[in-house]
Amino acid sequence: MIDKVIIANRGEIALRILRACKEMGIKTVAVHSSADSSLKHVLLADETVCIGPPRSTDSYLNMPAIISAAEVTDAMAIHPGYGFLSENADFAERVENSGFIFVGPRPETIRLMGDKVSAIRTMKAAGVPCVPGSDGPLGDDIQENLKMGKSLGYPIIIKASGGGGGKGMRVVHTEASLLNAITLTKSEALAAFNNDVVYMEKFLERPRHIEFQVLADGQGNAIHLGERDCSMQRRHQKVVEEAPAPGITDQQRLEMGERCVKACLEMNYRGAGTFEFLYQDGEFYFIEMNTRLQVEHPVTEMITGIDVVRAQLEIASGKKLSIKQEDVTFTGHAIECRINAEDAKTFMPSPGTITLWHPPGGPGIRIDSHIYSGYKVPPYYDSMIGKVISYGENRGIAIARMTNALTEMVIEGIKTNIPLHREIFQHGAFKAGGTDIHYLEKRLGL
Ligand code: ADP
Repeated sequence: MIDKVIIANRGEIALRILRACKEMGIKTVAVHSSADSSLKHVLLADETVCIGPPRSTDSYLNMPAIISAAEVTDAMAIHPGYGFLSENADFAERVENSGFIFVGPRPETIRLMGDKVSAIRTMKAAGVPCVPGSDGPLGDDIQENLKMGKSLGYPIIIKASGGGGGKGMRVVHTEASLLNAITLTKSEALAAFNNDVVYMEKFLERPRHIEFQVLADGQGNAIHLGERDCSMQRRHQKVVEEAPAPGITDQQRLEMGERCVKACLEMNYRGAGTFEFLYQDGEFYFIEMNTRLQVEHPVTEMITGIDVVRAQLEIASGKKLSIKQEDVTFTGHAIECRINAEDAKTFMPSPGTITLWHPPGGPGIRIDSHIYSGYKVPPYYDSMIGKVISYGENRGIAIARMTNALTEMVIEGIKTNIPLHREIFQHGAFKAGGTDIHYLEKRLGL
């Protein structure tokens, strides 16, 4: 078993990983930037190493500094959390070549899934449904591209194979703008991702975002933990997530879950992962796979009782999956609200000192957050300062509990998006469930 882990992240997820390690008797090393020495997990870790100045490129993205920290502290493994280096195949490779365990998939798998064209090819071969599209990179043949656009029917979307974070995509509404859009997306992709490969997909106009969580041990065993609905988004950023997805039947869960599991087995996947789908008119369309832990993993944990971070650490230790698919059950409903240090109306980041923090509580409320009264939110990183997760026997109870939690919670000294969450939870459409990915922006008048 892994005996010491470098937590190569910050904020709530670093604390989440630290808690799992402590439960499992694994020693922890918090590596942090000079702006983060008062982070909660840094104060609680067995050892700490400052890996650089505030800027992420100098610290949380500084591969040699993180690997040196592992060497100096004699750690066995590196957990990358989410964001930062978590989906960087070169980092995973360097970690392994330096003799450490990367808590995540093999570097080849990260590379395969990081390239969207190769990810889609792999999924198609495994029988996972994908968005109708060009089935590979777009060539230079103008007539061929025009023909493809026509046969898919407009609107279509041009996407960069190396894209990520909602960048490198362009929606095309008419044939007249297709060729120009391809040229523009290609040059943007080259500049941003150093890869000008683009492909074409049918643009779905009112999809929901539904994703499946998987766990695989890389030793011939894989299971799925059902789906999450993450349709409540603003600028491709998830705001509220829930599990199960409203209206998805047991049969759909079973079928899609099985396909994801099959894909994992075919690529000999190792670790936790997420298959992201757009869902429209009763059909699922694969868009990408995230080869890491996700922000919204707690809603799955709440309804399955399975600790995803513990499972990651066990898999990384070389253990076989101890849970079989037939042991996975889905009970009740869970919802997560991402709490950001930002203005609830303008979305401008609001760093600063938290002068008062009253966390909510009561049955079915889980808080994953690193903040405390007196904690200073630095201006250098993502504005998420925590997550509130509510659980109930059914969706109505989970909503009622979240509504209470959002009313009880007090954060003073900085602005937060709590007022936005309070408002969302009053919306009839949200209460009914099943809103599409454009709902929130439309509702906000964006
Ligand atoms: P990224 O890796 O940048 O997040 P994704 O492929 O996951 O890129 O797409 C991000 C978002 O873009 C999706 O969640 C969805 O909102 C939108 N999108 C992507 N492909 C399509 C499509 N074919 N039709 C409609 N919307 C799409």
